[in-house]
Amino acid sequence: MAEAANNTKTQFLANMSHDIRTPMNAIIGMADIVSRNLDDRACVEDGMRKISISSKHLLGLINDILDMSKIESGKMSLQEEDFNLKELVSDMAELAHTQTDEAKINLHVDISSLNEKMVRGDRMRIRQIYLNIISNAVKYTPEGGLVRILAWEEEGYHGSMKNYVFRCEDTGIGMSKEFLQHVFEPFERVQNSTMSRIPGTGLGMAITKNLVDLMGGSIEIHSELHKGSEITVILPLKPLSEDSVVSEAESS
Ligand code: ATP
Ligand code: MG
Repeated sequence: MAEAANNTKTQFLANMSHDIRTPMNAIIGMADIVSRNLDDRACVEDGMRKISISSKHLLGLINDILDMSKIESGKMSLQEEDFNLKELVSDMAELAHTQTDEAKINLHVDISSLNEKMVRGDRMRIRQIYLNIISNAVKYTPEGGLVRILAWEEEGYHGSMKNYVFRCEDTGIGMSKEFLQHVFEPFERVQNSTMSRIPGTGLGMAITKNLVDLMGGSIEIHSELHKGSEITVILPLKPLSEDSVVSEAESS
């Protein structure tokens, strides 16, 4: 086990150095080009755009590593706030649209049965869960494929909580039964970035699974190689009663 852990660490450092170095080199290279072509407006604009993309990518990577280390040291905590879940999912869907358009993938969204009521939960972390899943669906679905985003609430209450279901289906490359057993482990990827040219660290699903667990929810994956995947997340959230929505609107 110790040896396996050590191998994982070695592999991690190798992948990580690659994943960090690529955007870092792009930033340094572009900054250099821009600084030598300050009078060429088109060049400056193009360079700045690329610097911005690479630095956001790098920040995402660093945030994932920090999240993972917070989770592993048991220091990840959740915030509570009141927010509109339908609005959140519909924002996600809009974001997904830009990604699927760019990747020439079809996108179907059906969140019509989700109602507009406010719920209480960790908005940013829920967003992160949905975003990780959607970005995988887009990443691992080839041109011409289909991604479907569905969300609804289950009937009935569990105490003061309701179950909110989010499902993302894709017609992408899918995962084998063997791989599915490891999909929630940190740094596990079917192919590393160097081999597949699909960027990623393998932290997305590990973080997602941990966040869902922390929220007392569940995540289920059905997937078949070369056919596609279906990921379902169920989160128990507390819907605010009409009264509390009104009283909050009055108080603000
Ligand atoms: P990161 O999310 O950290 O940028 P990643 O997307 O590779 O990198 P995860 O989101 O943790 O990592 O997913 C782990 C692996 O599971 C992926 O590398 C991919 O091999 C596989 N995978 C995840 N989602 C899908 C999907 N929808 N279709 C096919 N394979 C998937
Ligand atoms: Mg991912």
